[in-house]
Amino acid sequence: GKKEGRGTYRFFQSAMDLELKERAQLESELRAAIEGGQIEPFYQPVVSLPHQDLVGVEVLARWRHPIRGLLTPDQFIAAAEETGMIAELSCRLLRQACLDAREWPSHLRLAVNIAPQQFQDRWLAERILAILTETGFPPNRLEVEITETALVQDLEATRATLTSLQNLGVRIALDDFGTGYSSLYHLRELRFDKLKIDRSYVDSITMSEERAKLVDAIIKLGTSLGLTTTAEGIETAASVEWLSGQGCDYGQGYLFGAPMPKEAIDRILVAPADA
Ligand code: C2E
Ligand code: CA
Ligand code: CA
Ligand code: CA
Repeated sequence: GKKEGRGTYRFFQSAMDLELKERAQLESELRAAIEGGQIEPFYQPVVSLPHQDLVGVEVLARWRHPIRGLLTPDQFIAAAEETGMIAELSCRLLRQACLDAREWPSHLRLAVNIAPQQFQDRWLAERILAILTETGFPPNRLEVEITETALVQDLEATRATLTSLQNLGVRIALDDFGTGYSSLYHLRELRFDKLKIDRSYVDSITMSEERAKLVDAIIKLGTSLGLTTTAEGIETAASVEWLSGQGCDYGQGYLFGAPMPKEAIDRILVAPADA
């Protein structure tokens, strides 16, 4: 009847109010967190295949929230992107990562995720160069990861930014390959250095022969276009063996190490001073 109808309406209304309130609170907390240094870089090992030598780390954002504990990107990156705070967040993260990396072996690469909209910023390459210069981190040890979503925005602006970064010596990886669209067109049009095969594909290689064939085709495609290939989300030794056999160049996943804070990666990378 009428009564329940109105009750339902009120219920939805207040649920919406609550959602808006929570969102507003998240945004103001996030702004303070970025400025207060609560967003910190975690590092996940990237290894070469088949020998599994450590070749670099990917920087993954974590929010050390004073009350809610350690938050993962799915809890705040979307909000950071929608409010434009992502630019400040990733600048600070990159600066911190470059500082942390000073104690690591000098052949190790640093890979950072840059949000699609940031490639529309015509000063992105300059901003990144300023951080590299300030921290003394060489551009040729930096990799920028970009998802296909960036390519369906303003392709010309994105292309210009990618070229500027490559002119500095920064490498560009196409992230989450296979989850977006127009991949083949973009692979041909933009001169990426690396292709990262999404975890959903890597997961599926053990499930069926058809799926394994698809991953094999992606590896061959990348290789034939002169790109190196990285498989994401490797969790089993069987996957490593298969991927290596198909010619995949690099691997990343819990099998080699989950994303970890500076202190933990330092224990792997920094030799004790008086050993
Ligand atoms: P991504 O770039 O694809 O990063 C890989 C994600 O897979 C990470 O999730 C990592 O923890 C997870 N992962 C790695 N190995 C395994 C595995 O073996 N098994 C499973 N199940 N998962 C694995 P995380 O850290 O939660 O990051 C999620 C996404 O958030 C990232 O996906 C990236 O797109 C985004 N992100 C993280 N940091 C930043 C950042 O600083 N800026 C931007 N724009 N995006 C970021
Ligand atoms: Ca990535
Ligand atoms: Ca990825
Ligand atoms: Ca992914």
